[in-house]
Amino acid sequence: MTKNKLSTPKDTQAGFVAIIGAPNAGKSTLLNRLIGQKISIVSPKAQTTRMRILGILTEDATQIGFIDTPGIFEAKRRLDRAMVQAAWNSLEDADAILLLIDASAKQDKKIGEIFAELTKRNKRVAVALNKIDKITPDKLLPLAEKLNETGIVDDIFMISVLNGDGVDDLKKHLKKKMPDSPWFFGEDQLSDLPSQLLAAEITREQLYRQLQQELPYGATVVPESWENKKDGSAVIRQTIVVARPNHRPMVLGKGGERVKSISQAARQEIEKFLGHKAHLFLEVKVDEKWQDRPEFYRMFGLEFVSL
Ligand code: GDP
Ligand code: MG
Repeated sequence: MTKNKLSTPKDTQAGFVAIIGAPNAGKSTLLNRLIGQKISIVSPKAQTTRMRILGILTEDATQIGFIDTPGIFEAKRRLDRAMVQAAWNSLEDADAILLLIDASAKQDKKIGEIFAELTKRNKRVAVALNKIDKITPDKLLPLAEKLNETGIVDDIFMISVLNGDGVDDLKKHLKKKMPDSPWFFGEDQLSDLPSQLLAAEITREQLYRQLQQELPYGATVVPESWENKKDGSAVIRQTIVVARPNHRPMVLGKGGERVKSISQAARQEIEKFLGHKAHLFLEVKVDEKWQDRPEFYRMFGLEFVSL
C-alpha cells in the first residue's frame, strides 16, 4: 500500500543500491533485515532468488530502493543465463553497488570474475564481508587487503547479517550515498513486487525447504488467481509447475501429505506479510518445457535470452 503523507520531508534523498555477490553470500537475508520484513526468499540452497526484487527502505529523509539480484554464477541453462544477466543489468540503474562476500567461505574464482566484470563496466563498490559470526577476525585482514588491491573498492564493512553486527553502520553509509531527489515510492511501501508474485515466491521457498536436492531448481510457482473476500481474507490459487512427470508425485507426497504441508507453511508466511487470513490452494502440473517458454521469464521480470 502506498500512502503519500503531507509530512514528507522537504529535502529528501532517494536512490538505488544493487546488492550483488556469489550465490549464498547472504544477499536476500541482508535485504530482509534492512527492510525489516521478509520480502526476499532465503534458503541454504544456492540460487534461490530468481527475480530482481526491489525492497524499499524509507528512513528519516532518505529512501533507498534495494535491488536483490540472483547470484552471479557460471550460467549454462537458459534460466540461469537470464538470472545472471538480470544481476549485471541491475548495476546500470544503481547509485551505489554493494558487493556481499561470504567471508567464511573459501574464496573461489567467482569473486575474481565479479571484479573483472565490475572493472570492465567501470564500477566502484562498497564491500561487506558477511558471516563474521562464523570466523575469527584474523581471517578477515588478508581478505580486506586483497580487496584493496583491486583498486575499485571504496569501503569495506565487516558484518553478520545473522546477528546484526555492523549492519547499521553499513546502512548509514548507504544512506549517505543517495543523491538529493524526491522519493520514488510512498513512505510505507516495502516492495515493488506485486503481492501475487510475492505470495508465489513464498510458496517456492517452501519447495526449497521441504523437497530434496535438485527438484526445486526445476520447479516454479505461478500465481493463478487472487480474490479478496468480504470477511477480509484472501483466496489465493497457485500452480506448482515441475519439469518432470516423476516430480509430481514427489511434490504431492503420500496421500497428498507433502503438498499439504507446503501449502500450510506457505499460507502462514503469506498471512504474516498480508496481515490477514488467507486460503491457499495449490495445484501441481507437469510442464517439461517451462524453462523454454518466454512467458515465465516475463513473469519474473527476466529477459528471455536466446541460447
Ligand atoms: P543469497 O543467495 O546471497 O541471497 O543468500 P541467502 O540470503 O539466501 O543466504 C544463504 C544462507 O546464508 C542462508 O542459510 C542464511 O541463513 C545464511 N546467512 C546469511 N547471513 C549470514 C550470517 O551473517 N551468518 C551466518 N552464519 N549465516 C548467514
Ligand atoms: Mg538470494
